[in-house]
Amino acid sequence: MRSHLAARAGGLLALGAASLVAQNNIPGNQPFPAHKIIANIYYVGADDITAYLITTRAGHIVINAGYAETVPIIDAGIRKLGFKPKDVKILLNGQAHYDHVAGMAALQTLTGGKVYSSERDAPVLESGGVKDPRWGKEQTYPPVKVDHILQDGEKINLGGVTLTTRLTPGHSLGCTTFTTTVMDHGKPLEVVFVGGTSINPGIRLFDKPTWPGIADDFQKGFDVLKGLKCDVFLGAHGNYYGMKEKYARLSGRVNPYIDPEGYKKFVQSSEAVFHAQLAKEMEPFRTPPTFPEGVKKQ
Ligand SMILES: [Zn+2]
Repeated sequence: MRSHLAARAGGLLALGAASLVAQNNIPGNQPFPAHKIIANIYYVGADDITAYLITTRAGHIVINAGYAETVPIIDAGIRKLGFKPKDVKILLNGQAHYDHVAGMAALQTLTGGKVYSSERDAPVLESGGVKDPRWGKEQTYPPVKVDHILQDGEKINLGGVTLTTRLTPGHSLGCTTFTTTVMDHGKPLEVVFVGGTSINPGIRLFDKPTWPGIADDFQKGFDVLKGLKCDVFLGAHGNYYGMKEKYARLSGRVNPYIDPEGYKKFVQSSEAVFHAQLAKEMEPFRTPPTFPEGVKKQ
């Protein structure tokens, strides 16, 4: 009897684990330990799809929602760190792409926080992705009501913590980077949450551009990112800044998330990829050099 019950319990456990895995087999969206990054900034995202908790004495801020399937990971992470999801007052996102905002409606329900968005990403969020110039056409996630539109340079103040909004368009129409200053061992450090810099498959920069002015948008975004001082480098995907590898080094003497050089290299190499793709797209449209009558081509 005992062994029968034990076997049944084991079977049920195995079934439970299997169904959990089946619910979330999305690459980059596997559970990852929630942890303190630095000062009042915590990691509550998945193994690549990021979400950050910024705590204040008047409630908290979460940056990025991930997929709908990321929200249980965020929920568990906030609780594991000893905070309450219902204390989250403001929900931000770096880019209105499916993998970062499909869970925003669920995160809004879970926390009761207000959703802030840049002006150009707001219609995408509110349409559940229909208004996305690249991925749109049909609704791919639950529409999100945007409570507040963020302007470039706008300061978000909560409980003595200030985040600055910087529009870094290109990766998405209204791609947004947030910055804040934390004190670490008595020293101020600049934290940058990069919204996104890559050029997704199918995006066109020059001929039949995905949206008018997309190349100028990308360049503006890179100019802003190049102008930021960054000590602590974070972003929409863990792979932007080597999150897993840095997490593994967290117990060392130096906080691995302090990485100004990594930030510079990331921005530089992302901009180089952008310039290379733009040059490639422009190549067929270049007029070949012409030579005056009678002059022989050397
Ligand atoms: Zn994206």
